[in-house]
Amino acid sequence: RGNRGTPKMTLGLPSIWRAKVERTFIAIKPDGVQRGLSGEILQRFERRGFKLVGLKLIKVSEELAEKHYAEHRERPFFKGLVEFITSSPVVAAVIEGKGVVATARAMIGPTNPLNAPLGTIRGDYGIDIGRNIIHGSDSPESAEREIALWFTPEELLDWQATIAGWIYE
Ligand code: ADP
Repeated sequence: RGNRGTPKMTLGLPSIWRAKVERTFIAIKPDGVQRGLSGEILQRFERRGFKLVGLKLIKVSEELAEKHYAEHRERPFFKGLVEFITSSPVVAAVIEGKGVVATARAMIGPTNPLNAPLGTIRGDYGIDIGRNIIHGSDSPESAEREIALWFTPEELLDWQATIAGWIYE
């Protein structure tokens, strides 16, 4: 009844619709946005099978930048990092899916683009560590903190992707 052609169902729904799924925070930094890479980068995560649940273009305030990078407060590059991240718009996004925190980090690549393998975002597009194009949360705990810092609950959408059963078994 109306569900011909839909993939294997469990209790009528792909299991992913009933599971508590992981979320992570990513930010395309000013260099990535200025270079016109936003669409291409978001497409990589979408093609992998991850689902957007929050997305905005934002001019980052000094306060947000300092909170976001609080763990680096004492580092010599902190001031420059805050200046850079507030210098031009950033694309902030929350993506959702099984294992998304670690997988997004793997897709992003190591902090220094020169050490990043081809096929990773930093390895394909970057050269300098202070122009490494994208941020991704480094743990589920960081993801939770960063999502709450960058997005209000109303900005995060709970929605079901009808293709989920073709991505998850
Ligand atoms: P990642 O972004 O890979 O999680 P870190 O959390 O260590 O890396 O650092 C945060 C950001 O600070 C980096 O993405 C980079 O933009 C900047 N950064 C880190 N180390 C340096 C450095 N030695 N010089 C300049 N910028 C740096």
